[in-house]
Amino acid sequence: MVRTRFAPSPTGFMHLGNFRTALYTWLYARKNNGAFILRLEDTDQKRKVEGAVEAIYRSMRLAGLDWDEGPDIGGEYGPYIQSERKALYLPYAKELVEKGEAYYCFCTKERLDALREEQGDTFTYDKHCMSLSKEEVEAKLAAGEPYVIRQNMPTEGVTTFHDVIFGDIEVENSTLDDQILIKTDGLPTYNFANVIDDHTMGITHIMRGNEYLSSTPKYNLLYDAFGWEIPTYLHLSTIMADSSRKLSKRHGDPSFEDLLNEGYVMEAVINYMALLGWSPGNDREMYTLKELSEVFDLKGVSKSPAIFDKEKLTWFNAEYIRQKPLEEFHDLILPYMEKVIDTAKFDTMKLAGLLQPRCEVLPDIMDKIDFFVEMPDYDIALFTHKRMKTNPEKSLPVLEELVGVLEGVESFDTETLKTVISEYITEKGVKNGAVLWPLRVAISGKMSTPGGAYEIAELLGKEETLARLNTSIEKIKAER
Ligand code: GLU
Repeated sequence: MVRTRFAPSPTGFMHLGNFRTALYTWLYARKNNGAFILRLEDTDQKRKVEGAVEAIYRSMRLAGLDWDEGPDIGGEYGPYIQSERKALYLPYAKELVEKGEAYYCFCTKERLDALREEQGDTFTYDKHCMSLSKEEVEAKLAAGEPYVIRQNMPTEGVTTFHDVIFGDIEVENSTLDDQILIKTDGLPTYNFANVIDDHTMGITHIMRGNEYLSSTPKYNLLYDAFGWEIPTYLHLSTIMADSSRKLSKRHGDPSFEDLLNEGYVMEAVINYMALLGWSPGNDREMYTLKELSEVFDLKGVSKSPAIFDKEKLTWFNAEYIRQKPLEEFHDLILPYMEKVIDTAKFDTMKLAGLLQPRCEVLPDIMDKIDFFVEMPDYDIALFTHKRMKTNPEKSLPVLEELVGVLEGVESFDTETLKTVISEYITEKGVKNGAVLWPLRVAISGKMSTPGGAYEIAELLGKEETLARLNTSIEKIKAER
């Protein structure tokens, strides 16, 4: 059975690279009826960031990436938080010492610093402590001398490993350092804990960012040292901000939650991120999470770096927004409406209906509705429209007559307004635009609005519509 895991370190918010790793790992597990495990890698307590664990849970839950085993729900292979597994690692390191695959090292900081100075950038430990006899080691341990346990790396030959995405990778063993497995405080290093956890949790497929590609030979040598079966590796390509720079929080690139806060909807983020480095092998672009879990395959995962393209994400967003049931769209934009208008005074559902076809990201709606609160200080040149064959001079008598027409309208709704104003247009024998354009400009002060003159008039109500008409009439008179 396929067992995959997402193993984030709680060092900050969920950045998009991590989110994509979580998504692909989850999709692979679901596609193969496997298990998806959440493990928190908090070995490096110094890098732990307040709130990061909560951000991981929150992001995964929001996205619908549910896990079958994890810190909060447990499972057969728990605990699923490294800091709760502390006692587990030392016996494994000791097992390797027994096998001659690892050894105790008592070198002082001074000795190591001197060695580093001597060797320069490409430091590898010189296996000095390997020459200690068993008795010497025992005596030092009994005397309470501080120690670490190091992996005994081969010094000759090459280590080869296979990655499903990157193919065969080879490293010269002579370049590998006898890495520390257990530190002086008795706790495992990150690399050691990672391997022990993956093996003891029965992980079959390891998906992670390709920054781990170069560490993988070391991991594999550990599997070999134990005589354990090596899992399948899939390292995912880097996500770039542009052709030269990696996406990074430090440069202000958004995290997963930032995108949601910016007004991107979940379906769009998931769909876009799924296609950022994976291709279904055809032209189809729109996929729900469920559909992705049915078609996701490793063949389509790309080795080349993917460039994060916000415009494309925005395109997906607009598509998903348009597809949403009106009520759902309404509820999504309500918090943004509340920032601009007194929602108690407007039919917000009607307004949502007008906004839905014109919204790319949710906060867009704010400057589309601000005129409902107050008319902008517009230029009367807005009344000029070539195709509608109108201008401020021609608009003036039309607007004056419309005041009279609208004053007589009892029920101020779109349908009635349409009937009454159409009658007026027919009577006058002019084009629709010669009346509707000036009317819309006069009551909105804008060149484009969500909905036409009727809809806006209805939403504003009779009193406000007439007040605005009169103000605009005075404005034309004064400024023409
Ligand atoms: N904890 C690592 C990270 O957050 C993941 C390493 C792995 O998946 O093996 O980058």
